[in-house]
Amino acid sequence: MTDLSIAQSVALAPIKSVAARLGIAEDDLELYGRHKAKLPLALIDAEKMARAQLILVTAMTPTPAGEGKTTVSIGLSDGLNKLGKRAIAVLREPSVGPVFGAKGGATGGGHSQVGPLVDINLHFTGDFSAVEKANNLLASLIDNALHTPGHPLHLDPRAVLWKRVIDLNDRSLRDIIIGLGGKANGVMRSDGFNITAASEVMAILCLATSLADLKAKLGNILVGFTYANEPVYARQLKAEAAMAILLRDALQPNLVQTLEGNPALVHGGPFANIAQGTNTVLATRIGLSLGDYVVTEAGFGADLGAEKFLNIKCGYAGLAPAALVVVATIRALRHHGGAPPAEINTPDLTRCEQGFINLEKHLENAQKFGFQPVVAINHFVSDTAEEVALVQRLCQNMGVQAVVSTSWAEGGAGATRLAEAVLASIASGANHFRPLYAWDQPIKAKIETIAREIYGAAGVDYSPKAEADIRRINRLGFAHLPICMAKTQKSFSDNEKLIGRPVGFRVTVREFELATGAGFVIPLLGSLLRMPGLPAVPASEGMNIDDDGVITGLS
Ligand code: ADP
Ligand code: MG
Repeated sequence: MTDLSIAQSVALAPIKSVAARLGIAEDDLELYGRHKAKLPLALIDAEKMARAQLILVTAMTPTPAGEGKTTVSIGLSDGLNKLGKRAIAVLREPSVGPVFGAKGGATGGGHSQVGPLVDINLHFTGDFSAVEKANNLLASLIDNALHTPGHPLHLDPRAVLWKRVIDLNDRSLRDIIIGLGGKANGVMRSDGFNITAASEVMAILCLATSLADLKAKLGNILVGFTYANEPVYARQLKAEAAMAILLRDALQPNLVQTLEGNPALVHGGPFANIAQGTNTVLATRIGLSLGDYVVTEAGFGADLGAEKFLNIKCGYAGLAPAALVVVATIRALRHHGGAPPAEINTPDLTRCEQGFINLEKHLENAQKFGFQPVVAINHFVSDTAEEVALVQRLCQNMGVQAVVSTSWAEGGAGATRLAEAVLASIASGANHFRPLYAWDQPIKAKIETIAREIYGAAGVDYSPKAEADIRRINRLGFAHLPICMAKTQKSFSDNEKLIGRPVGFRVTVREFELATGAGFVIPLLGSLLRMPGLPAVPASEGMNIDDDGVITGLS
């Protein structure tokens, strides 16, 4: 059965009744049909938040297929609910581009899904569209300023940093020329599109703590430089209020449900490479105000997603996870043990044992943040009992409990043992979250700490461009911001071919970007795509909608 056919076989409860279980009055719901609702920010309650527990789900270095963080997060939340706990899964919104490309949707898998699947993966409650509009409004204001004779900002058209966005995989928009057609059509200049998830507006929406904070952050976006090389911010174009107006509804978290009828918040979807890769601060806060346990996910492997969650999001939002779950799969262990792509589903005890070094490093890293992690072995049909027992033994040797989750096949019932292990981890008092670095350290010191401690690198090299960028960041007064590393998710290093646990390598920072609105400095360790392309045979070719509106082939 496909994820979609499983989802279609389940009758979702009216969202009103899901909300009622959380004690939310119907009047407080902004209904988007029968199964989706936006929640007012007034539901945030600092006292309740302080009593609730945040559980962060991350993963070992993934194979291209994904190791099931979303699936395990939903399963764990359903598992906690099965144990009688009031748990809420708080997750990112999928991006439409990849739905029609290769990766597919992002609403979990098998019997651990949030629904309605089609809605969430497509237009949902319009948040992505609002981000796109706000982003492109700023772009249009920039070009209008360039077009206006004698505009007081003296913005240099060759030094505009802000790009347009669209939520599609469309590589031909990466680099374009705009303003063709003569004087009436604006100033001709090179421009380009990013995918919406890569917009700084998305990163800002996900870090904003209120409407006022959203507006301030939008105003702080660095859009480019003047002819005199002075920075120009969105607030100088008086853009922030208009952008915030477009984002008013998008700022409110979305309530949906798991296939088992338990509440889930799905809100915000920033890229995990050039941004923080996790849902909105506001959804996390509402989750912690409504439930006793919030299960949330950080994108990519723990070296990227969890590191940014813990050093950036927790710092801005004042959050401290009570437990950390590292998702591992036998297929990823085989991969890191040298299995070629065609053989990652073939049982192989030796490769599994050799690949453990990757998981081992992630577990050591979790300990550097003060966690005694729990490993969730996301069970696949190709796993053998011997391989699972081996991984459990190797984890045990490190003092770490590894629990099999069969929630993909069985839903919450397949994750009750994982839920018990997580509850025991919280109760043990062994988790004392501490960030890895202090934000006020120099930029290079912060990068060095992440590279050495988390990646296991021997050191960091900087290109001449990167050195110049650091000088500029210092001159502009942003050296105190946290670091948002942009690196491949396929390796601890900046070379995606170095699987397992590479040692002795150095990483190279090629250049920097500055997200002054979201509030982080982005070192680029390699060439990163902000606008994906479609594969030769896109997923869209396998989709259909019949005369009754029933969709097949999606996700
Ligand atoms: P991540 O959040 O880590 O990217 P997802 O939870 O989205 O991963 O899962 C990626 C894909 O793998 C989904 O299509 C999902 O259905 C599938 N998947 C996850 N867990 C399993 C499993 N145990 N068995 C089979 N397929 C799985
Ligand atoms: Mg995911």
